[in-house]
Parts: sequence; structure tokens; C-alpha cells
Amino acid sequence: MDLNELENFKEKTYIAELESKLLRLELENKDLSRENTQLKKENEILKRELDKLRIPPLILGTVIDKISDRKVVVKSSTGPNFLVNVSQFVNPDDIVPGTRICLNQQTLAVVDVLPKEKDYRALAMEVDEKPDVTFEDIGGLKEQIQEVKEVVELPLKKPELFEKVGIDPPKGILLYGPPGTGKTLLAKAVAHETNAAFIKVVGSELVKKFIGEGAKLVRDVFKLAKEKAPCIVFIDEIDAVASKRTESLTGGDREVQRTLMQLLAEMDGFDARGDVKVIAATNRLDILDPAILRPGRFDRIIDIPAPDEKGRLEILKIHTERMNLKDMDLSDVAKLTEGCVGADLKAICTEAGMFAIREERDYVTMQDFERAIEKVTGKTGKINMTTPHLSVMYG
Ligand code: ATP
Repeated sequence: MDLNELENFKEKTYIAELESKLLRLELENKDLSRENTQLKKENEILKRELDKLRIPPLILGTVIDKISDRKVVVKSSTGPNFLVNVSQFVNPDDIVPGTRICLNQQTLAVVDVLPKEKDYRALAMEVDEKPDVTFEDIGGLKEQIQEVKEVVELPLKKPELFEKVGIDPPKGILLYGPPGTGKTLLAKAVAHETNAAFIKVVGSELVKKFIGEGAKLVRDVFKLAKEKAPCIVFIDEIDAVASKRTESLTGGDREVQRTLMQLLAEMDGFDARGDVKVIAATNRLDILDPAILRPGRFDRIIDIPAPDEKGRLEILKIHTERMNLKDMDLSDVAKLTEGCVGADLKAICTEAGMFAIREERDYVTMQDFERAIEKVTGKTGKINMTTPHLSVMYG
């Protein structure tokens, strides 16, 4: 190879090297620009997230009146009513009086529509089409069961009797007694025995948990009861919506008033000989508005007291029916549990069982019960009559 050829060769090698370097750089460039696009996208997403976090919370409200597709009167959850615009993102067909909506905090424009009311209705009511509680599941309370049977069961099962005699059966009864004595249980058992559906609402929830919806919920409860008839409507803690009226009404009191008025209207509106019966429960008879105790409303008051020793034994028998008890007499437990209500006794039986399980035994002894009584009541030996009802703790 002469000198010229050598130079030529070197030049070609150099060019080839440069070409491959160029190719590499071009590839690298492509990779980098792809990465750049990816990072730009991520940046956009993060920016949008940040924007979302910066948006102030929305105010909840209910549409009261629709003036036009883009103008409505709303009641905001903060209190006052406003005439506001409906944002372009919201379909005006989704908005009718009663629709629950979200309002922008600054402009109060309607920016979103909440799901239908069914959600909170389902939360506020416990509906049991076929409760499985029977009168056999209730310990003690024989007289009370008899009275409830006469007042509720007879008119539902034999309405023709009342027609023939020409009298109206009571529409509603009021069960009065401390918490945990079996009032709910009794109402469920009546529903079971009469093949009726059971709807339960809790007075305090109607006015405190679902603010602004109390009266509407009462209306909905009775509407549903008529649809499901025969039906027992059970209103627990009725004192929360039916306490004596006070002179000065605060916003909260007005809410209670509206709910009570609706309840009275519903009670007056249905037929005494129909197949909807209302059972209410309270442990504060003294604070009830006399309006709810008038004839045609809750005109029967049935006292549901804490059980005596015999009653406690019956309740204990019910709750230990499936338990394997060894060398013990339940009447001893009944003696030791003075002042306890049904809910406490149920808790004691469960706790006694738990002590056995903890010691890996498949039978329960008197010692387990003694420890359970101590755990549930906080006391050993004889329990004082003034022991507060522990069902508050055990529900
Ligand atoms: P509250 O007023 O707090 O609603 P309540 O009087 O309605 O109380 P229940 O809810 O019926 O009481 O009772 C709670 C649980 O206690 C029942 O599910 C049941 O297991 C038990 N219990 C209460 N009383 C009796 C009873 N007389 N016989 C058998 N079990 C009972």
C-alpha cells in the first residue's frame, strides 16, 4: 500500500467512525425527546392535581325552585336561601326541586349534582321485610306482649272484628322504659307474628344526622310503609322529635318542630283500620309533647321496665340456649344480676362464652359468668338496684 492509499484508507475509517457517532447521537436525541415528551405529560398531570387541591371545598345545598334552566333557588347547608346560576357543566334536566347539589364557594353557582336521595334514605331507615324475631325470643314481658298483641296484632289480623263492633283500634303505641329492655325486639316480634314488614327510624338521627331532611324522611317512611303494608313503623327515641315545645325556637328546634308536625300529620292521615301501625319507644315520657299522646295518635302507653329476677332468668335462658353450660344453675346468675336489663344480660352471656374460649374450653362455668358479670357491670357480688343500665355501653 503506497502513501496515498494509506491516507485514503485513514480518511474512510475516520468518516465511518463519524457516521456511526452521528447515528448514535441521533438515536440518543430521539430517546431524549421521547423522555422530554413523557416528562411534559407528567408535569401536566401534576399541575392539574395541584389545581384540584387548590380549589376550595364546595357547599352542599338543595334546590328549592327552578326559575329557568340556568337559574335556581337553593337552600344552602349553611342556612340561607340563594338565587344562583347553574354552571354550563351541569345538565339542567338533572335539576328539579329537591335535587341535592354542590355550590361553588365564591360564586355559589351550581357546579355538581349529588346522587339521588335514596342514599341517605337507606342510611336513615332500617327496613326488614321479614323480621325473624318471635315472641319466644323475648324474656319476661308477658303482660306487655299480651297488651301489644291486643292493640296491634288483633286489628292487623282481624280488622273485621273492629268493624263489626264499630270502634277504631289504636293507630300507635308508645313503649316506655329504660334502654336495652327489649322495645325494639318487641316491635320486631309483632311484625313477625303479623307477617308485616318492619321499618325502623331513630328520632335523634332524623333531626341531627340528616339536618334539614327530618320532615321529608318522615313523609318517606310513611310512604314506604304504605307500599309495604302490612307494616310496622318503629320510631326509636321519639322524644328527640316530640319533646314539649319551648317558647323561643332556635334553628335546631324549628327543625324538630317541622319533623314533629309531619309525624302528626302522617299519623292523622292514615286509617286506623288500615294495615300500618306505628310503635314508638322512649325512656323520657316526662318531656313528651302531649300532642302526640292524643287519641288517634300514640294513645296506648305500655311500660317496659327492667326485668325482675324471674324475667332475668327467662332472658338468660334465651341467650344461653345454644351454650354448653357445665355444673351451674342460671338462677344464680339471675340473682347476681339485679338491675341489669336484657341487653346487659346478653352481653354477660357473650362475655362468659369468651372467657371459656380464651381458656380453650368448649363449656362455660359459673366462674366464667361471675367474671363476665364483673366485666360488664364493673361490680362483683350483688348488683345494686341503682346500677346504671349498662346497655348504654353495649347497645
Ligand atoms: P333502646 O331503647 O336502647 O333501643 P331497646 O329497649 O329497644 O333499647 P333492644 O334493642 O330490643 O332494646 O335490646 C337490645 C338487645 O338486648 C336485643 O337485641 C336482645 O338481644 C337483648 N334483649 C333486650 N331485652 C331482652 C328481652 N326482654 N329478652 C331477650 N333479649 C333481650
